[in-house]
This record gives sequence, structure tokens and C-alpha cells, in this order.
Amino acid sequence: MNRSLIVLLLAGLLSGCARTNRVDGPPNVIIIFADDMGWSDLSSYGQKAWDTPALDRLGAEGVRFTDFYVPTPACSPSRAALLTGRYPLKAGIRDVLSPRSLRGLPEAEQTAAELFRHAGYRTGMVGKWHLGSHPDFLPTNHGFETWFGLPYSNDYSPRSINNPRPHAAGWMELPLMRDTTVVEREPDQRLLTERYTEEALRFIRTHQEEPFFLYLAHSMPHTPLWVSDPFLGASGAGLYGDVIEEIDASTGRILAELEALGLDDDTIIVFTSDNGPWLVMGDHGGTKADFREGKATTFEGGVRMPAVIRAPGRIVAGQVVGEPVISMDILPTVLDFAGIGLPSNLDGVPLNGALAGKADLDANRPLFFYRSGQLRSMRKGKWKLHVPHTYTSILPEWGGRPGSGGHPGEYGNATIGIALYDLQADPAESIDLAAAYPEVVEDLLRDIEDARARIGDELTGRVGSEATPPQFIQAVWPTLEGDQ
Ligand code: MG
Repeated sequence: MNRSLIVLLLAGLLSGCARTNRVDGPPNVIIIFADDMGWSDLSSYGQKAWDTPALDRLGAEGVRFTDFYVPTPACSPSRAALLTGRYPLKAGIRDVLSPRSLRGLPEAEQTAAELFRHAGYRTGMVGKWHLGSHPDFLPTNHGFETWFGLPYSNDYSPRSINNPRPHAAGWMELPLMRDTTVVEREPDQRLLTERYTEEALRFIRTHQEEPFFLYLAHSMPHTPLWVSDPFLGASGAGLYGDVIEEIDASTGRILAELEALGLDDDTIIVFTSDNGPWLVMGDHGGTKADFREGKATTFEGGVRMPAVIRAPGRIVAGQVVGEPVISMDILPTVLDFAGIGLPSNLDGVPLNGALAGKADLDANRPLFFYRSGQLRSMRKGKWKLHVPHTYTSILPEWGGRPGSGGHPGEYGNATIGIALYDLQADPAESIDLAAAYPEVVEDLLRDIEDARARIGDELTGRVGSEATPPQFIQAVWPTLEGDQ
């Protein structure tokens, strides 16, 4: 063996990136995150009006979760939880960030991208960020080598006049960015899903010889809804169905590309959504089966998500998992698949053993649900407990009214006291059992109190002992490169 060959082999071994045997090597990881997609927006979750064959295939060839949660029904804090494996208040993101917010994901937080990058992975992001749009907070400062997408939601634009947001007129034009540079203003949103898909495929092809982590965060189906021409009217179920079918087709193209490159068995794909459907948008919002309420509330409609993981050869395929799990479990799970050590400060737990049929999931782990920093409800086993709070309701008895055609309706202001629901018998959270099961309420309130002390709770004015203070940029907004 000549000397240069030995050097090459040693370099490969030391880098941990040698892909001579892909099956035994570190797997690629792709997380696809939809925006405001509801629990029953997939055919495999009961949707009949449109079809989602590719997303359903991920679940059929992997695992489909029936009781998968996000810890908060809103964009920014849900994304913080996904990428850090921690409750949003611990990750320094209490609520949705506005376009010119001086806040962002604190530098001290370790994201999935940083953890994979440190382990020798190539890291890329495509799509909506929404964890701070000041240059200091952008994805390329949080472990992603490359990023192409929007810094925040697609409605933060002076042109989004049909939106239930009062200050839209004062916002700058929507920037489409590559890394830290604005490449377009007010991009044609009909092409967003298509362009994100092309970008994701390019990233996969570019890094096919190396282990990679790709985070594809679609801007859709957050309103305003847009689809490319081939999908307009294709679902026969209105614009929302068309948008979902384009996201599904995007997923199908990614699967096909992985197969064509021979990476199919070496790539783990996770798909879920950041929060439940935006019901005030009516037919431009998603669906949530019979669950109560939607986005912006901590009822099941707001926090229970469709979720699938495909991990060939690594899990028992074709499972339907009914134990409650939460989006913070994704990070430790994919790190574990990749053989990367877990940080000690995570709130999520790795699901690998259970998905491989080698361990049981803890069905009684308490999961807490926050809105705007307020701890409003929790789940433990079959029980869901709400503590007294006010929320925005779409129900007519509270003055709610769904909109239509892209025009928002109105939310009503609603209140709830201590309320206990048996989600097995009553997933719609309609029959309050608090008076019948005082000992269950007492038990769950002890968990709530523990969460207030550790994580924090703005309803009761508590700062959690493990919370990370929000990080502010002490500066005025800079002019972004490419800004006009
Ligand atoms: Mg969202």
C-alpha cells in the first residue's frame, strides 16, 4: 500500500466521514417542518378531501405518531423547541418574533445544526427560520453552513393586506435570503415550495458523499397560501388542499432523489408541523379532526401534530405509536441514530429504543403546553389538565367566526378554569372531569408547580430556575447586505 493511500485512509477514519460502507456509517438526517399544518391534513390521519401519498409513505415505512405534541402552538417558540430539544422558555424564545425584533435564539443555545456540524456532518437549511432576523441570529450563526429562505413568516409584508395582523403596513418588504444576504424582495410566493424543493435537492446532491443534516422548513401552509401553477386546482379541494399536495409532492421528489442516489437506506426523514391550523382563516386554514380549537391555543387542535419518522433498518417499520411524545424528542432521537452524544440539558428523550422495539415509551411522562410564556395546560397519560387562563377562540359561543378566501374572520376572547379531560374517551376536551377526579387534579397540579419552578410561567409570574433569559441585540437594525 503506498504512502498516500495510507494517509488518505487515515484521514478518512479520523474525520469520521468515511462513507465506504454507507449502511454502517452515520445516517443522513432530514427534518421537514410544515407551518400551521393540522393533525388531520394527511390522508393517513383521516383526510379525505386531498391526497398525501408521499408523507403517508414515510409513516407506512416508518412510524406514525397519533399523540405527537409541540410544547407551544406558535411559530418561533415551537421552532426553538424542535432545534434545541428544550422547552421554549429554556431556549430563550417565549413568543413569536416580529420582523424587526431585536430578540433571537440565544448564542448559548446548541441547535441540531451545531451538534451535527461538530460531529462532522454537513449542515444546511432551506425555508422559514423565525428565530431572529437580525444578522446575529440567522441560521448561519446557529450551525447551518448554508441557508436559503425567509427569515420569518410569509405574511410579514406590507402586501399581505388580508391578514389578521394590525401592523402589516409598517413592515419592510418580505426578504428572500441566502445566508446573510437578501437576494430578492417580495419573491413570487407561488414558487416558494418549488424553489425550496430544488434547493433541498441540490443540497442532497452536493453532499451525497458526506453525512448531512438538512432542515427543510416550508413556509406553507401558513397564509397567504400560494402554489405553483401545476398544483393550482389539482386537489379539487380548494387552495389549501392544493398547497398540501404540493408539499407532499416535494417530499416525494426528495424520496425519489435519495433512491436515485442510493441514499435511501442511509437517510432518516422526520416530518411534522410547528403548530395547529390557523382556524380564523377558515378555508385557508388546516384541519384538526374533532380536536378543540387550533393554533394559538393549548387545546389539542393547537398542539397535537401529524408526525412521521422513516428510518430504514433502524426502527420497526409500519408502527403506529399512541404514547404521548413531543417535538423536543426529535433532536435526541436523531442524534442517537447518528451516534452523537446527547447534551445533558435536553427536555426531550430519545425514542430510538422504543421505535426499534427494544424498550417501552414512558406513557406517563408529563408534557407541558405554553402560550406566550404562560403555562396553560399539560398532558400526563390519558389526562389533560388546563389551569385557569384566557385564550382566543374560534367558537361562535365565544364570538369567534372563521374567515374565507384568504380573508380572516374574528377570534373571540374565551376563558377556562381548572378543567380535566380524559383524552382517551374524550379527545375533543368536551367533558370536564375535574370535580369527579380531584386526586388526579391534585397530582397534575404538583407537576404544574414543578414546571413553573424549573421552566417558568408568565401566568403566575414565575421565572424558571432552568430558563434562559431572552437575548437582545443592543443596537439599531443594520441595513442588510442586498437591502435596497
Ligand atoms: Mg406556524
